Amino acid sequence: MDAEYDVIVVGAGMAGVTYARTVHDAGQRVLLLERSRGLGGRMATRRNGDDVWDHGAQYFTVTHPDFHTLVTDWVDDDLAAIWQGRIYCWDGETLRESSRAIRYVGLPGMTALCKAMAEPLPCRLQCRVEALERQDGLWRVRSGQSIWLAPRVVLAMPPEQAARLLPEEHPLLRHTTAAEMLPTWTLLMSFVSPPQLPFDGLFINREPLSWLADNASKPGRPASNDWVLHASPAWSAAHLALPAEEVAALLEHAFLDLCEQLAPGVPVPARQSMQAHCWRYARPAGQASARAFLESADGLALIGDWLQGGRVEGAFLSGVALARQHCGLPATLDEEEV
Ligand SMILES: Cc1cc2nc3c(=O)[nH]c(=O)nc-3n(C[C@H](O)[C@H](O)[C@H](O)COP(=O)(O)OP(=O)(O)OC[C@H]3O[C@@H](n4cnc5c(N)ncnc54)[C@H](O)[C@@H]3O)c2cc1C
Repeated sequence: MDAEYDVIVVGAGMAGVTYARTVHDAGQRVLLLERSRGLGGRMATRRNGDDVWDHGAQYFTVTHPDFHTLVTDWVDDDLAAIWQGRIYCWDGETLRESSRAIRYVGLPGMTALCKAMAEPLPCRLQCRVEALERQDGLWRVRSGQSIWLAPRVVLAMPPEQAARLLPEEHPLLRHTTAAEMLPTWTLLMSFVSPPQLPFDGLFINREPLSWLADNASKPGRPASNDWVLHASPAWSAAHLALPAEEVAALLEHAFLDLCEQLAPGVPVPARQSMQAHCWRYARPAGQASARAFLESADGLALIGDWLQGGRVEGAFLSGVALARQHCGLPATLDEEEV
């Protein structure tokens, strides 16, 4: 039977969408499969009525010229903008201004970027891939009753999720088991009026918190009083099994404590809603790998932020590096076969 596609990409975060769009533009038949209802993966936007939160990636920075070129196009197309927020750091004693890095956000939310890139691509949402089987030189990709065939499959997801799909004793497994991702509990809060805090984003170096941001301070967001709080990786790992309601109560307590330290005596407005969510595989525990992607001779490949330092830019670089190799374009990063 003929392969229906040249390549099937599993996972529609920044890495998978970048890869898929690049090979599509080079003329290859690509299919993108994503288990969630929307595109973007950890570049997630959550809505509840008029309330909106970026509850995964908060912003992204740019260092590589290739990513710079793409981000410049996004800015020109009103898909991204610079977040001019007041960003501070708090260590429990001193509030100081953070680095003056240029921080970009998607418009009107972080998901907008993957949505725009995936626009021309054949894509199935709410399609959780359950198994990969090798047959007659092709990969059979199965989700429920559906099966697709291709000589190449790219798994664009955190290593633990890729490991569940790799066949037993596959050579790529040792790479996925060697990598570790750390969790992040997030708390999405909305208030009846704006909390009076002297910053728009705050790096917190004091347990249990690591980050706090006023979502409405980002460009293109509605003027609602929606705030995002992140727990530290260590605290999140220690509280992985706790029900979300209990985590929400603990993190709200930590937030109120923080407000009292930063703005003593200033009342915090009444809360309208709060919701906790755990990103089980939020960020890689280790350093960037020496390889932008991993590929085996049988046509399976792994890409994702975890191979390139765990950020939005790393996910892009991983996806584009593999796509370049598959399209016969010059490489910009190290590439190696397993
Ligand atoms: C709380 C948090 C805060 C962050 N803050 C920042 C930040 O400020 N700046 C920054 O640069 N980065 C940040 N990051 C990291 C950034 O979000 C990631 O680096 C980037 O989005 C990863 O993209 P990816 O494509 O590699 O993976 P993902 O975005 O995780 O995409 C993987 C996709 O695969 C799908 N998938 C998994 N298994 C299957 C399956 N079996 N079948 C079908 N689909 C499947 C998933 O649903 C997901 O959509 C943050 C991440 C988190 C969680």
